[in-house]
Amino acid sequence: MFRTDINYRKQRLIKLLYAIEKNQNEIAKALNNDFKKTEFEAFLTETFIVISELKLTIKNMKKWAKPNMVLPSILNFPSLDYIYKEPYGKVLIISPWNYPFQLAVSPAIAAIAAGNSVTIKPSELTPNTSKLIAKIFSEVFEKEHVEVIQGGIEVSQELLSRRWEYIFFTGSVNVGKIVAKAAAENLTPVTLELGGKNPCIIDKKVDLDVAARRIAWGKFVNAGQTCIAPDFLLVEKSVKEELTKKLIHEIETSYGTNQQNSNDYPRIITKKNWERLLGFTKNQKIIYGGKHNENDLFLSPTLIDEPSLESPVMQEEIFGPILPILTFENKNQINKIIERYEKPLALYVFSNNKKFSEDLIKNLSFGGGCVNDTLVHFANNRLPFGGVGHSGIGAYHGKLSFNIFSHQKAIVKKPTWLDIKLRYAPYKNKINALKKIAKWL
Ligand code: NAD
Repeated sequence: MFRTDINYRKQRLIKLLYAIEKNQNEIAKALNNDFKKTEFEAFLTETFIVISELKLTIKNMKKWAKPNMVLPSILNFPSLDYIYKEPYGKVLIISPWNYPFQLAVSPAIAAIAAGNSVTIKPSELTPNTSKLIAKIFSEVFEKEHVEVIQGGIEVSQELLSRRWEYIFFTGSVNVGKIVAKAAAENLTPVTLELGGKNPCIIDKKVDLDVAARRIAWGKFVNAGQTCIAPDFLLVEKSVKEELTKKLIHEIETSYGTNQQNSNDYPRIITKKNWERLLGFTKNQKIIYGGKHNENDLFLSPTLIDEPSLESPVMQEEIFGPILPILTFENKNQINKIIERYEKPLALYVFSNNKKFSEDLIKNLSFGGGCVNDTLVHFANNRLPFGGVGHSGIGAYHGKLSFNIFSHQKAIVKKPTWLDIKLRYAPYKNKINALKKIAKWL
């Protein structure tokens, strides 16, 4: 029924919208229990995004599902040509812990709207949120339509060993490779939303107050555990000191001088990650922060001065509240540093010099990004969100999400009242007529 009846799918999604709106406080509580995510961030970065995506989808899904007419080819004259949207069938969605509600539910909305049956495997590291996702979906959908399967790596591996018609994975590059290999067994198409080391480049020609505020927000929201957070800064040397002072000012304005007491500052998700992050600060020149508390899995916003490019903090994705500050004096130096890494998921440029930012945008390869801001490209559902190279395959959000969960089926409809004989053998001198047509194209 869900495969063929778009009205049925729409009604289910309306019911899901009500259920999520009704459960907003429960969602915020679960996120807070999982890693002290604040109510504001829970709303801004999780429920609000999902609710907007749901409303957009409910409003437009019938239009998106309709066959699109495209201009026909002269070679087929006369014909009417269409793209039909066909649900793939059985879709698997595997999601991470860092935005555990939004990254599980958003892709599911599109997969459901497009007519697929959906299995969601949320993260085991946020058990409260994952349990609530399972409860909400089980109240709205029949199991054959949408099922939430909770569990860790073994469950994920068992699911990957089954045959799917589409796999949508959000998580780390290493696990992305495991997913791609499993999908290849059955030639299953995939979207891989992965991570990387996102540079944030700050030119000297810029409003440093605004730059510091927007960088501090983008880096320390969710305690830096954001796939598109700036990973490291590359600052024009002459403005480094001033920018650093302003960053410290912004951190203290947002979270106070003792950030452990702030109600707005989340915790690190696991002891393992907390230890990994703490390891990054060893033997580094910490200009600010570095405070930590194991019992609470707290790590304060931390600024590191000019780490060696060979040190661990500059080797892997940080994914926590540590911000290395490096400098440059010319564009060559910027390129040399960025080219050491795989193509990142995001890149940010702060500059009032249009040529400076345009050159970087055009010459460097990355998933997406902003000029004079951080993270906010995520918020426009008319922009594709995804990586390139090692930061991911495919992109989603808004109408694009509906399209990635639909096979685009090409159909040419021809009448029989006219049958031009040009293509049929014997060809004789027909090649001359064909060459003439080719000239018109
Ligand atoms: P992860 O790759 O460890 O886990 C993601 C999911 O994969 C979880 O559901 C987990 O159970 C499962 N999984 C883990 N190991 C597995 C294995 N060996 N085999 C099969 N399944 C396995 O990622 P994470 O730690 O939850 O999230 C952090 C990573 O995700 C970061 O690298 C971050 O950049 C990335 N991320 C990307 C986006 C994006 O939109 N591109 C968004 C959020 C996070």
